Amino acid sequence: MKFVDETRIRVRSGAGGNGMVSFKAAKNAPKLGADGGDGGFGGHVYLVGNPQLNTLSSLYYKRLYTAEDGVKGGSNGCTGRNGEDCLIQVPLGTVATNLETGEIIAEVLTPEPVRIARGGKRGLGNLRYVSPTHQAPHEFKEGGPSIEFDLGLELKLIADVGFAGFPNAGKSTLLSVISAAEPRIADYPFTTLEPQLGVVDLNDCGDYWDRSFVAADIPGLIKGASLGKGLGHEFLRHLERTKVIVYVIDPYPVTEDDPFQTFETLKRELENFSSGFSLKKSLVVLTKADLKPDDFSINALKAKFLDIGVDVIEMSSVAQTGIKDLKLKVWDLVEKEKDLIREVEESEFKPMSDLSEYQLMVSAPLDEQLQVRL
Ligand code: GDP
Ligand code: MG
Repeated sequence: MKFVDETRIRVRSGAGGNGMVSFKAAKNAPKLGADGGDGGFGGHVYLVGNPQLNTLSSLYYKRLYTAEDGVKGGSNGCTGRNGEDCLIQVPLGTVATNLETGEIIAEVLTPEPVRIARGGKRGLGNLRYVSPTHQAPHEFKEGGPSIEFDLGLELKLIADVGFAGFPNAGKSTLLSVISAAEPRIADYPFTTLEPQLGVVDLNDCGDYWDRSFVAADIPGLIKGASLGKGLGHEFLRHLERTKVIVYVIDPYPVTEDDPFQTFETLKRELENFSSGFSLKKSLVVLTKADLKPDDFSINALKAKFLDIGVDVIEMSSVAQTGIKDLKLKVWDLVEKEKDLIREVEESEFKPMSDLSEYQLMVSAPLDEQLQVRL
């Protein structure tokens, strides 16, 4: 799957339905009185944050998104039906820009719908203009116009998972194998100076079709990074923002470092930097299984990790083994963490059933939003 994080669509809200001009008719009196009803409201266009989506690719093939027009009012005082709203599903973190004005009009951070194009107001029927002295008015009001413009959508990826490992552990190779990202791979440290992000889909994992998570290859972690060695702090800050840490370890390095000690060193670097790391869900990935020497007891190594309650996966990017297992385990941890975050949010924030009230809140300045939530 090609990774799309930017796209442009056209949106159109519904026009309001016109008011009706009509009169009660009787055989001998064709104009007994006005009875034209109001038109319906035009449908709005909303963006809806969908936590299951990680890319904008589902919007890539359809260009025009329209809400329905309101229906014209009827005779007998009948009101026209309101137009249906148009709901556009986007991943959380999507920023929407009106390309005609260049203005950022929405930032989708929660699953609540955000209105981006208001439907036209309803028109008024001639029944509305009746007064004691004006029994048969011809006045009516047209429905409000629809709004149409090009909308730019941009998604800044937020990594769910960060790979923590010393240079040469096989992080970049792993990311290139499980996602469409193309990080540089080489035998020397610091091949990549910026975190590389990739969307990992689980389409080859049975029932997990259409599920995905975002993984980041965080380069440059070396001993002493937490003391600021190298570009240590910058890299650790990237890792701090992820939900799950995957410790990527090469168990067969030429230097003959003990893999379990390597893990402990990595963990210490992270926890020295921020105590928050000790609470993060994590997993150990032992890479390069295709290079395992015959006399190497992988089970003894795995037992050491299991003893301290850390799950281990053995895999090889070159031989393509253990990859599905890895994707499923990571997905599971990410979901558990998301559930936890959801629970915390639900207990802290009062759910608001009224959409307009919510929208007032999200369009308010950030400090006011916080006050509302408190
Ligand atoms: P990083 O520094 O952690 O990003 O490590 P890289 O992904 O750049 O890999 C370091 C070296 O290990 C490269 O020469 C890779 O080709 C090699 N490598 C990575 N994964 C595997 C693997 O599964 N098997 C083998 N045999 N070599 C690998
Ligand atoms: Mg690398």
